[in-house]
Amino acid sequence: MVNSCILCRSNKLTSEKIGKETVMTCHNCHLQFLENYKNEHEYYLDYEEVKHNFKKEMKILRKKQYELDAAHFVKNCVPGSILDVGCSAGLFMHEIYKALPPYSKTLDFTGIDLDIGAIEFAQKNALSNMVYYCTDFLNFQTDKQFDTILFRGTLQYMSDDIRQTFIKLKKLLKENGKIIIYFLPSFYNFIFYLLKENWCLFDSVESKLMFNEDVIYFIEKEFELKLVELSYPYIGSAYENRMTDFNNVIDVIKNGKPMTNIPFYGNIMQIVFENKKVWC
Ligand SMILES: [Zn+2]
Repeated sequence: MVNSCILCRSNKLTSEKIGKETVMTCHNCHLQFLENYKNEHEYYLDYEEVKHNFKKEMKILRKKQYELDAAHFVKNCVPGSILDVGCSAGLFMHEIYKALPPYSKTLDFTGIDLDIGAIEFAQKNALSNMVYYCTDFLNFQTDKQFDTILFRGTLQYMSDDIRQTFIKLKKLLKENGKIIIYFLPSFYNFIFYLLKENWCLFDSVESKLMFNEDVIYFIEKEFELKLVELSYPYIGSAYENRMTDFNNVIDVIKNGKPMTNIPFYGNIMQIVFENKKVWC
């Protein structure tokens, strides 16, 4: 039985059964996490490009979303050194590189991932300003500090290390550097309450952490960061298809249609934190 929160250490916890899982809710920081929160699978699963054969339409959508995220990243990052945590095969870094204006192609990129196959692929295809290491975040040894640290679809996989993850992030981030987080599922959303344990982003095997808007505000205060963006990209994202999505929701409610994935307002968070300057 878990008796303290893995992010804030508070013991103000309650538990709730969702499907076969017990979900713990912390009433201090608002994090939710699975009671069985230790991550047994020590790898990230964001490397479909290498391991799975996605349907052609999905590949097109994914590529379009890469381009949108890369354009956002270029606009919002602090140019200089970039660390991509859970970089997979490095494809998003190449997308960022393509999105950079010609005069600023000098950024240096470091990518880390636990998946050796993905890292070997990344190393083989690396440009001269890109380096890749096979390691998890907490064991990543470096003397370097970074201007921007990126999590694209990977923060939710940090599991039992979530407090240490933010402590280490602060150490690795330059003053006024940024943390940019894409594709973070929010569990304060209508689709989760509709589909519960059947929602594809409620991944009890790999992803034990369940974020929401309130826990992001807690992280901002606790780790002395400044939240400069918290948005829910749906309109304008590659996955937006309003009429189909509305009809699917109606079908679930009225006809009990079994669905696991309905892109919708509020499902996914996009976050930019800035490392606040500490005035002495
Ligand atoms: Zn907590």
